[in-house]
Amino acid sequence: MKNDDILAIKELLATPKKIVIIPHRSPDGDAMGSTLALYHFLLKENHQAVVIAPNDFPNFLAWLPSSETVLIFENDKENCIKIIQEAEIVFTLDFNALHRTGEMEHVLNKVTAPMIMIDHHQKPDSYATYTYSDTVFGSTCEMVYNFISYLGKKEAIDKTIATCIYTGITTDSGSFRFPSTTSTTHRIVADLIDIGINNSEIHNLLFDNNSYNRLQLLGRALQNMKVFPELKTSYISLSQKELDEFHYEKGDTEGIVNYGLTIKGIEFAAIFIEHRDENIIKISFRSQGDFDVNQFARDHFNGGGHINAAGGKSYESLKKTIEKFEKIISETKQ
Ligand code: 5GP
Ligand code: MN
Repeated sequence: MKNDDILAIKELLATPKKIVIIPHRSPDGDAMGSTLALYHFLLKENHQAVVIAPNDFPNFLAWLPSSETVLIFENDKENCIKIIQEAEIVFTLDFNALHRTGEMEHVLNKVTAPMIMIDHHQKPDSYATYTYSDTVFGSTCEMVYNFISYLGKKEAIDKTIATCIYTGITTDSGSFRFPSTTSTTHRIVADLIDIGINNSEIHNLLFDNNSYNRLQLLGRALQNMKVFPELKTSYISLSQKELDEFHYEKGDTEGIVNYGLTIKGIEFAAIFIEHRDENIIKISFRSQGDFDVNQFARDHFNGGGHINAAGGKSYESLKKTIEKFEKIISETKQ
């Protein structure tokens, strides 16, 4: 982070402010962990802070400290718009472009208060007054740890803040297995454990909370998997009918895409999920090695993300979307 920016932000935060903190739409562990970590820190520093999420977060994150205070824009638009308009500082966390907040984009475009972006995605837009963006980090949570440290407030990181930070580091690193996991990541985690987080319990809360239906849905997803060994590619699809059959709840499909990569020799995996209510096919891409799924998602499926993890969407039917995908991979992958 630029030294001048740190000084300017220190100055901004020197007196109590009304602050809004915003994660991306369909917030994941890193988005919720980073926004709530910052929220708890700012409260400790005597600011008035609130997290406003564009839409609801999945149940497996509902145990996060103070998640019950998070406002959901979609459910409470008038109130949220008023709070955003009155904010003296707006933080945007874990996304690189305002359209990642869905409908909130129009409200955020009109913000005149200073905006601070903390994010680790490629190609950040330039809407923020202060941009702390670096793809070298595996998670925004790791950056929030740095951000608080840069402000000279590292000692303010208590068990609550550390728990939120650990959550995002864990989920965005695939439990410390993705290449973005560095020795620094582990040093930060060591510090969080010293601060008193219960790392083992956090893993249980995040990953050992399946419903029977969710596991059955996973079973169906695995049965639907198609594998193209010569293209080192596999994909999974789930139709709305299948989601309904297993009483789909938000978060139930989280992580399923990764199973494609667990097949020996597979380096590129995708999942296509039909969302009738939004009339889109939500797509996730994952890769191992050099294949750049961020570029793939940008080029073909209205999306983006990181080199090894990206997402996108399609406005065509599930069948047509999959046909298009098969055509592209057969033409572009050797
Ligand atoms: P996921 O597949 O878990 O939804 O997302 C993987 C990564 O890609 C995350 O970092 C996420 O923020 C990013 N991502 C997901 N969907 C989109 C999208 O539609 N556009 C962009 N730019 N990034 C996305
Ligand atoms: Mn993230």
